[in-house]
Amino acid sequence: MFTDVLIIGTGISGLSFAIKLAQNDPGISITLISKDQVSEGNTKYAQGGIAVVSDFEKDSFKKHIQDTLLAGDGTCDREVVKFVVEEGKDRLKELIKWGSQFDTQQENLHLVKEGGHSEKRVVHYKDHTGLHIQQVLVNKIKSFNNIKILENHTLVDLITDHHSKEKYKRCYGAYVISKEEESILKISSKITALCTGGAGSLYAHSTNPPIATGDGLGAAYRAKVHMDKLPYVQFHPTALYHKVNGNTFLITEAVRGAGGKLRNSLGECFMDNYDPRKELAPRDIVARAIQKEIQKQKEKFVYLDSCNIDSKTWKNRFPKIYQTCSKLDIHLPQDFIPVVPAAHYFCGGIKVNTKSESNLKGLYAIGECSATGLHGANRLASNSLLEALVFSHRAALDTIDSLKKKLPDSLFYEALPEWNGDSYSNSVEIKEIHQLRFRLQEVMSLHVGIFKTTKGLKKADLEMIEIYKKIQKIYNQHKLTNGLCELRNMVSIAHLIIQQAQSITINKGVFFNQDYA
Ligand SMILES: Cc1cc2nc3c(=O)[nH]c(=O)nc-3n(C[C@H](O)[C@H](O)[C@H](O)COP(=O)(O)OP(=O)(O)OC[C@H]3O[C@@H](n4cnc5c(N)ncnc54)[C@H](O)[C@@H]3O)c2cc1C
Repeated sequence: MFTDVLIIGTGISGLSFAIKLAQNDPGISITLISKDQVSEGNTKYAQGGIAVVSDFEKDSFKKHIQDTLLAGDGTCDREVVKFVVEEGKDRLKELIKWGSQFDTQQENLHLVKEGGHSEKRVVHYKDHTGLHIQQVLVNKIKSFNNIKILENHTLVDLITDHHSKEKYKRCYGAYVISKEEESILKISSKITALCTGGAGSLYAHSTNPPIATGDGLGAAYRAKVHMDKLPYVQFHPTALYHKVNGNTFLITEAVRGAGGKLRNSLGECFMDNYDPRKELAPRDIVARAIQKEIQKQKEKFVYLDSCNIDSKTWKNRFPKIYQTCSKLDIHLPQDFIPVVPAAHYFCGGIKVNTKSESNLKGLYAIGECSATGLHGANRLASNSLLEALVFSHRAALDTIDSLKKKLPDSLFYEALPEWNGDSYSNSVEIKEIHQLRFRLQEVMSLHVGIFKTTKGLKKADLEMIEIYKKIQKIYNQHKLTNGLCELRNMVSIAHLIIQQAQSITINKGVFFNQDYA
């Protein structure tokens, strides 16, 4: 199969990138692949909204830039922060033109204040902004004849020089496994974009869906693509506490923005002891404060008290959270919500330039799987949907230019080899995959979570090598499946995070090694 542009991932970054390209030239062929159904991914779960300066009487680009730099703890790329903040307004207008209907108040956008923001600037659709955006983008995509979507297709590996006799030092597409047929397709392309999202599933508790296993990062790593800031994993302070491990429901920061207070098991408000901004301090500070309280009180969670948010606000502003809590017998606003920090966002990823291009020609990385320099060591709340929109636009402009240049001809793409190495017919048992995945998550959560120690990282390193050996053995002796692909990527990225974490001696943003405190 050949396509001009292959886009791996159908969240906000992949979809908006595809729309831009299709709008510009109906003559180019675009193929989008998604590991699950088209709408599954982190985008769908975004609650809070998009940070964009809109009220220029009270707010300014300067303030948003300053807030982003402050959250990033001196590690953001200033040029990137400036253009992302400034270009956000136009990208938001486009999103509205494509059909998004963000909440308004007296005909102006309703703006919310979230942690680390000095002003109200988060644009939202009730408490399920991501789901709304995802639906709008999927609808828009359907209006283009030159976009093809392959659902339930998983990226296995990128096609690069070592698959080709010629040496162009480019990316030429990807090998992809179809979940239904369990066969491996070669999809060659002039341009390839990784829009594969994050890797929250490396941890026992994550706000991400289970498919967030860092596949794009794993494939890029095997293709020797440069990575940046991998150990900077953001934990969201307030995920709903569950008794069992797994993917957990988020209680958006906007609840704290609306007046929600954090209390420990003794009923005490504790944020005052940690930061003058209290509940609205940046996420890393609030997450560490909660973790400290949990350890101090020897409990498994703290409480979010939302008594001062009235029922009407709950039902209108936060209907999804309200319903989810109701189903669990937590009646709002009178009941406290048990909350715990959970792995939420990968600040690091594939290192890209200001056009979202990686160091491998023809390969772009957009959205959460990329490291653009916007977040540095810590992401400011609601800056990631913004980043995805700004960078998909920039990547599209660059792709349009690249497609005009001389690229390998069709004979070259035809000559690329089919996937080689799947000669086994026996699949590994699902149980074995689950056990290894569970063990990996345990190691990451125990030693590579919010608080790290040098000794813990060393232990994690040794354990991960053992897990890696087991997975590699399975990979070498079994038929490739979706689950095995995920596990292979998870262990590679976990190993890289641990390796890089061991060389960090200064705590910045979300990274905290107690031995360097
Ligand atoms: C609960 C929650 C709340 C959030 N709230 C906010 C918020 O309020 N504001 C904000 O700015 N950000 C928020 N975020 C972060 C934000 O939602 C994500 O960073 C952003 O949506 C990522 O978009 P993306 O397009 O990069 O990836 P995703 O939306 O995660 O999409 C990834 C895509 O890649 C595909 N994929 C992955 N691996 C493969 C593979 N091997 N083969 C094929 N396809 C693959 C998936 O199928 C999916 O289509 C939140 C995140 C979560 C989880």
